[in-house]
Amino acid sequence: MSASRGHLYIVAAPSGAGKTTLVRMLLENDPGIRLSISYTTRPPRPGEADGREYNFVDMETFRDMVARGDFLEWAEVHGNCYGTSRPWIAAEMAAGRDVLLEIDWQGAQQVRRQFPEAIGVFVLPPSLAVLRQRLTGRGTDSNEVIARRLAAAQDEMRHVTEFEYVIINDKLEQALADLLAVVRASRLRLDSQHARHSRLFADLLH
Ligand code: 5GP
Repeated sequence: MSASRGHLYIVAAPSGAGKTTLVRMLLENDPGIRLSISYTTRPPRPGEADGREYNFVDMETFRDMVARGDFLEWAEVHGNCYGTSRPWIAAEMAAGRDVLLEIDWQGAQQVRRQFPEAIGVFVLPPSLAVLRQRLTGRGTDSNEVIARRLAAAQDEMRHVTEFEYVIINDKLEQALADLLAVVRASRLRLDSQHARHSRLFADLLH
């Protein structure tokens, strides 16, 4: 059985599913999980800070990082580049810590090829109507912009079949309880329990 090792969680969702809020609440509930801060070429949004939501870099820096192999995975999403730091993940995993990646389906595929034991969680909205409403924003966007967002969300959602767990985010409290249940179940798996309680296993099974 494998030695003590952290779990790698991948959380993906279309925009409008409420993924970021859900992940923030999970991390507040379970400080043992470390969130990977991605690198991105997109400019910061109001309220975002460098090194907190993302590491904001220019295209040249991003390209250099790709060339050096600094990314565990990277992808272009909605015209901007996003990538996960390979050395950061390697250090956290080596230390046996649980790590969570908030990335898109393209990144999830790349991570799964390298870590087949990664636990994939996909967050869905409760209905198309709710999704449309969430993507409409403050009502200042044109129908064309909203239609484009909805189409992008549907493209992302088609990849739900590539994930192990699905959480339907209707009521936030319930969705959080579901996500906590996934984390808890993963920690009860045989290899995790064996690593955590090796003495007990040895005593009981000798
Ligand atoms: P946003 O710009 O709205 O924060 O994120 C846009 C999309 O990029 C989201 O689907 C988000 O999950 C994805 N994303 C964020 N960081 C990464 C990353 O490091 N790798 C990949 N593949 N996708 C990412």
